[in-house]
Amino acid sequence: ADHSGSRLTDGLNPEQREAVEYRGPALLIVAGAGSGKTRVLTHRIASLIESREAWPSQILAITFTNKAAAEMRERVEALLGEGASGMWISTFHSACVRILRREAESIGLSSTFTIYDSADQRTILKRIIKELDADTMGFTPASAQSKISKLKNELTDVETHARNANTNDPQEVMFLEIFRQYTRRLRAASALDFDDLIAETVYLFRAFPKVAALYQRRFRHILVDEYQDTNHAQYSLIHELTRPVPREIVAELDEHGILVRGLTDASGAIPGASLTVVGDSDQSIYAFRGADIRNISEFERDFPGAKVVLLEQNYRSTQNILSAANAVIANNFDRKEKKLWTADGDGDKITGYTGYTAHDEAQFIADEIEALHRAGVAYRDIAVFYRTNAQTRALEEIFVRSALPYRVVGGTKFYERAEIKDAMAYLIAVANPADELALRRILNTPKRGIGPATETALASFAEQNELTFRQAMRAVDGLGLGPKVTGAISALANVLDEAAAMLVPSAEGIEAGTNAGAAKVSDVLVFLMERSGLLDALRNSRDPQDETRAENVEELVAQTRDFDRENPGATLVDFLTQVSLVAAADELDDASGTVSLMTLHTAKGLEYHAVFLTGIEEGLLPHQMSASEPGGPAEERRLFYVGITRARKRLYLSLAMSRAQFGEVAVAMPSRYLQEIPEGLIDWRQSPGMATSRGGTQPRALNARRGAPGGAWGTRDRDLERFSVTRSDKPKTEWANRVTGTVRDNGDLTLEAGDRIRHTDFGEGTVTQVTGEGTKRIAHVGFDTAGQKKLLIKIAPIEKL
Ligand code: ATP
Ligand code: MG
Repeated sequence: ADHSGSRLTDGLNPEQREAVEYRGPALLIVAGAGSGKTRVLTHRIASLIESREAWPSQILAITFTNKAAAEMRERVEALLGEGASGMWISTFHSACVRILRREAESIGLSSTFTIYDSADQRTILKRIIKELDADTMGFTPASAQSKISKLKNELTDVETHARNANTNDPQEVMFLEIFRQYTRRLRAASALDFDDLIAETVYLFRAFPKVAALYQRRFRHILVDEYQDTNHAQYSLIHELTRPVPREIVAELDEHGILVRGLTDASGAIPGASLTVVGDSDQSIYAFRGADIRNISEFERDFPGAKVVLLEQNYRSTQNILSAANAVIANNFDRKEKKLWTADGDGDKITGYTGYTAHDEAQFIADEIEALHRAGVAYRDIAVFYRTNAQTRALEEIFVRSALPYRVVGGTKFYERAEIKDAMAYLIAVANPADELALRRILNTPKRGIGPATETALASFAEQNELTFRQAMRAVDGLGLGPKVTGAISALANVLDEAAAMLVPSAEGIEAGTNAGAAKVSDVLVFLMERSGLLDALRNSRDPQDETRAENVEELVAQTRDFDRENPGATLVDFLTQVSLVAAADELDDASGTVSLMTLHTAKGLEYHAVFLTGIEEGLLPHQMSASEPGGPAEERRLFYVGITRARKRLYLSLAMSRAQFGEVAVAMPSRYLQEIPEGLIDWRQSPGMATSRGGTQPRALNARRGAPGGAWGTRDRDLERFSVTRSDKPKTEWANRVTGTVRDNGDLTLEAGDRIRHTDFGEGTVTQVTGEGTKRIAHVGFDTAGQKKLLIKIAPIEKL
């Protein structure tokens, strides 16, 4: 059909339009950042529905975050001018949870299964490692967790792994035992971890072709955004969903009254769904989670006859920003050459800034944000990105001091607070009585005099008798524990039973298959918090922090009230699922007038008027953990590329000359990626005092800017007293000099306790102690008038007397 001129293709360029209108089994849209990939997907869905080629219920679209899903749904509905309920637009995880909750019984799982997050996984692994004494062999919860996760993302379950493991290697044998125990415990608790959500759905489809057929029949159009970041398990899931339904199964579906008419081809089979994937291999940043960049390059092999559309025109950024992005990514090998361009002109130059310290860098950012704001840029249209969460400390300190409205996306971690986890554990224990982890968490929270010995006794009693932990709690009378402990355990079990009873729908509700008559989530939570004594324990505590904890629990109650209001008829399991699946970027709230702070990973797919990329230093970007891994620096470069291409009009690149990292202060070197940007694109505004530093020391200028005499700097940064810039004794690379000015280098200056020194600002003093090693040696100095300071010997403006 010719839809040209329809509002669905208005405002699209010819290639985008082609992608929206193409009809065929497989379509691959490869394109750089900001070229309208997500927009094309949205228009394509609307076009399929408007042209009546598909019902909304026949569409499955996979996005990277729940928020992106909600946005896509809104835009599709806006384009159509009507609601489009029945459409599945969600993340991989949410889609799989929906499928698994419906089909749980096929794989012997309770439909109220719990979803374990990373912290839950580690708690269980910690117990297992302790029981097996595996720590002596070097296993940690984190190392075991990442190994297990890798295997699951490769769809290798424990039995498959056992067949391939080398039984002569004690290390491998031990790991296998950990993996076994872990799998067994999750099963027993009716729990799945995040990787299981995908893997179990694939296993379900493979083991039960008839169940798979229900979804293969239903979803006629599958569309995947950010395809470059799918891992093998996710890829396999898509593969399963796009399989044709064979004739025999079609006949069975038909017998069960499931509509197949109009869907079958001449042979009586239902052809595979049409698949559209969009991605940019230059933005693949999840290799550490098993994402496989080859998914894109091999798409054409896996889906022969696939149509490929390339988009190159960028609608997001200025040409200067794009030229920087192009120049950086061109340094990666083994990629398809593509050059982003815009019709919108060069725009402003990129601004570069080198701070003395992370605080100085943060101050520059805060000042610049205020300037942008005065010039009319809304706070919510400004974002600050960083590589590691630790970098937020300096930024937050300065932003708070500058009274700048900001929000750390993915940093509030409300649901990770201990008291919230406690309260949630009560809800989980009610929803899923098999969940041992949740039960053990609340067993003595609040304190009821149930000690670790009792906990272990219950656990082994359960194990020996093949009972769940909860059943063991009910049988506590026979365990010969003291009367007080026995009473406390029974009381807790009763509270949980009563709460569970509140959740049973009325007879009418059960009849109609709805949740009618069941208590609301908020009512159950309030009941649990009051009857368990948790809230009172926090309220009556003398620990001032417990007051905040009580408020947090009350905040959780408020959230469940909102949930009940917004989702009438929803169940406790629905609430728990929603909480489990919130991703960092889901916390973004466009309406709030705040600057957003987030990691580069979280920034994927987003765009802002002004973007600050911070800490562009060796060790941070590329991160030192990945610098030595094969493919690491290339992946980190893609991360930098993702960051650059989030900016619409203004891009800032900043770094610091020294940074406290891993508890140490170290000299920071400019990132290797910075020199890949053509010089003419960046306007370097260095620290005052640095700009003219080639001639020598300029400490006064710096102090003048801070409006305070020498000592003021010391209050800005507890870890590192300010150091100055002077002519270098040693040759440095030309590049490093251009960015950072010439850093003073005291070389091998040897200091020890008792030495007298002179500092350009603090005057004379006595060294009391020297700590650290090599370039990170720090002198602790008692100055005669300026007090106690810690100085990085290598670069401090000091001389030995
Ligand atoms: P990323 O790779 O970062 O996910 P993307 O390729 O998905 O980017 P979009 O987010 O879809 O790109 O589009 C980038 C911006 O350009 C959006 O603001 C979008 O509305 C706008 N845009 C896309 N195509 C056009 C067009 N033809 N005309 C005007 N604006 C467009
Ligand atoms: Mg996109």
